Amino acid sequence: MVTAIVGANWGDEGKGKITDMLGEESDIIVRFQGGSNAGHTIVNDYGKFALHILPSGVFYDHTTSIIGNGVALNIPDLFKEIQGIVDQGVPMPKIKVSDRAQIVMPYHILFDQYEEERLAGKSFGSTKSGIAPFYSDKYAKTGIQVSELFDEESLREKVVGICEKKNVLLEHLYHKPALQVDEVMETLREYRKMVEPYVCDVSAFLFEALKEGKRVLLEGQLGSLKDPDHGIYPMVTSSSTLAGYGAVGAGVPPYEIKRIVTVVKAYSSAVGAGEFVSEIFGEEADELRRRGGDGGEYGATTGRPRRMGWFDAVASRYGCRIQGATEVALTVLDVLGYLDELPVCVGYEIDGKVTKDFPTTSQLKKAKPVYEVLPGWKSDIRGITEYDKLPENCRKYIEFIEKELGVPVKMVSNGPGRHEIIHR
Ligand code: GDP
Repeated sequence: MVTAIVGANWGDEGKGKITDMLGEESDIIVRFQGGSNAGHTIVNDYGKFALHILPSGVFYDHTTSIIGNGVALNIPDLFKEIQGIVDQGVPMPKIKVSDRAQIVMPYHILFDQYEEERLAGKSFGSTKSGIAPFYSDKYAKTGIQVSELFDEESLREKVVGICEKKNVLLEHLYHKPALQVDEVMETLREYRKMVEPYVCDVSAFLFEALKEGKRVLLEGQLGSLKDPDHGIYPMVTSSSTLAGYGAVGAGVPPYEIKRIVTVVKAYSSAVGAGEFVSEIFGEEADELRRRGGDGGEYGATTGRPRRMGWFDAVASRYGCRIQGATEVALTVLDVLGYLDELPVCVGYEIDGKVTKDFPTTSQLKKAKPVYEVLPGWKSDIRGITEYDKLPENCRKYIEFIEKELGVPVKMVSNGPGRHEIIHR
């Protein structure tokens, strides 16, 4: 059976913690999209970790961690991360990398930087990890698959073609130094050495594992609203963030994905530019940012302060629907204990009409939030382990959200730690 853990919002919902938790009862954990551009923060018995490319299951010795074909594979990052966790005392994880995964090249990262520079104020707020240039190359069929590292001759031929094209842009659009075929080949040889021990026909491995009844967890990065098709295009990421894409990006049959745990944040946060209807500003936002997450709402990869907002029921309901959520994990609820009242965005006013449906970006730009205000619970709910022990107003907030989402909230997270969770 396959379970997917995905985000309903703009990312940073706390998926890492939920994956880490559910990883305990899984055999295999797979990253199926994205790259080392986003981060999961995990707090466990070994310490606090920011993972960018490794699946969150690397902390268990009974699980196999997989980088699926859909991932933007940054090989040096992968190796730095493995080294980093081993250095902190975590046992060497079992890792497999799909032979069909494609490689993020140093020139992808450069192109990302150059393009952000060129766009200046109009940039997409990229993390400059090369993700957009990487996926552009993948679909332009000039990407490099891990499997191609093992045939030098045809690889060189490909690299010559890549350099030819890229150097035109480097010279004439960006006015930057040209790529050298020999240097690119040298990098690829180093990458081959680093990745070789882990290379695997992942879809075949998963096919056999599923036949044996193994439990597979698909770990999504970012959230529904950053999906290139269903999100706030163009302020989206470059690979699909949806559970449905898990079938493609891991190489498993779609019908095997039975459980879609959709992580919803009890308030809103976003990094980078893009539409964000329930965004708040000033001191109100600063306070939520300071108190949010585990030690404040700052990007795990970039350290950038996240944009903050109230819970957006319109966006979150849509986010759950487009994921095909079978259940919701509601996170960071403990953060809200300081508020006298909690505004919840229950509708968008667009051209004088109120809608509860999440629109396309052009309409979204005009949307103004319509709030319903719920009373706060004014207490610290950390340490509570049973739903009935939560303050009444806190339960009312959860039940209000559940009704708006139309999906059962089966888990409530009331702290960053692995065991700080209330099951319903
Ligand atoms: P992800 O990308 O979805 O995994 O989210 P991040 O890890 O970037 O952001 C979630 C942040 O919130 C991390 O710092 C977590 O340690 C923290 N976190 C997760 N769940 C909870 C929770 O229930 N309460 C609090 N206070 N922090 C949480």
